[in-house]
Amino acid sequence: MEIEKNISLAEFSTLRVGGAADFFARVTNLAELKFALEFATSKNLPVFVFGGGSNILFADAGFRGLIIHNEIRGIAFDDNCVKVGAGESLANLIVAAAAKNLAGLESFAGIPGSVGGAVVGNANGIGGKVARVTILENGAVEILEKNSLEFKYRDSNLRAKILVEVEFALEKSSENLAEKIQKIVLEKVAKQPFANTAGSWFKNPAGESAWKLIETVGCRGLQIGGARVSEKHANFFENAGGATAADFLTLEKIVAEAVKAKFGIELEREVVAVGSSKSQNPNFK
Ligand SMILES: Cc1cc2nc3c(=O)[nH]c(=O)nc-3n(C[C@H](O)[C@H](O)[C@H](O)COP(=O)(O)OP(=O)(O)OC[C@H]3O[C@@H](n4cnc5c(N)ncnc54)[C@H](O)[C@@H]3O)c2cc1C
Repeated sequence: MEIEKNISLAEFSTLRVGGAADFFARVTNLAELKFALEFATSKNLPVFVFGGGSNILFADAGFRGLIIHNEIRGIAFDDNCVKVGAGESLANLIVAAAAKNLAGLESFAGIPGSVGGAVVGNANGIGGKVARVTILENGAVEILEKNSLEFKYRDSNLRAKILVEVEFALEKSSENLAEKIQKIVLEKVAKQPFANTAGSWFKNPAGESAWKLIETVGCRGLQIGGARVSEKHANFFENAGGATAADFLTLEKIVAEAVKAKFGIELEREVVAVGSSKSQNPNFK
């Protein structure tokens, strides 16, 4: 595997924003992941690992370190369990499980991105279906069982880890799972924009819907530079063309200030903003 240099991050993020990474590795197996991390350690570089790039805002300045694109894929069924590479597309996993009449993942249909990204961010509570995860830490493979995993709203204790594989516990079902999946996806497409967004920009504050707060303060459709609050869903920000990360952060600030002024509520960003040197590499000093 080659460590590439000076790779534009914009094409890897669904927001289509971001400067160049000094170093970039596409890892398809554990050995490549280890190699990439050793490379970063030998050069004392910060590391950031991502999957589908559907919940990320890369910085306009790019990244002064090594960005790792997790492309570790593969789906293996064993009775009612399924082991899946963290870089596998969540959509592929959901369809494969349905084809085996295994239920439990259908409600996550329509969430873009990888299995690793979904589990780390506990997308729609997917953590509840996880039996164990395999991580790589300090060059060693470790298995974390369910009882050591903590999932909360759009978060987990896996944020600073590097996920390699996830095992889900599913249940046999006689339902028409393919039909259920199709219905969920169609409902989602009707309510949300899909292109050039990163999903919900803010987390929902306790007992509130971020989109309702944003709509009430009149920010639906607001545009700063190329970044716009979606007309279709007021908690989705989208790249209307030529947006920069700075445009998104300015838009975020204006929207958050308007909500704070009217409701006294501080909105918290859900999308992960990757600075120019955020590190997931414990060996980085
Ligand atoms: C149209 C649209 C609809 C969406 N709907 C939903 C929704 O209904 N519910 C929801 O929760 N989200 C939703 N999202 C947001 C996003 O799709 C999810 O959060 C998704 O699970 C992110 O997965 P990803 O692989 O793209 O993560 P990325 O964007 O690649 O990464 C997100 C975070 O996960 C970390 N990460 C990714 N892979 C690994 C790994 N292998 N090891 C360690 N860390 C890793 C990254 O470091 C980063 O911090 C939506 C997004 C879009 C564009």
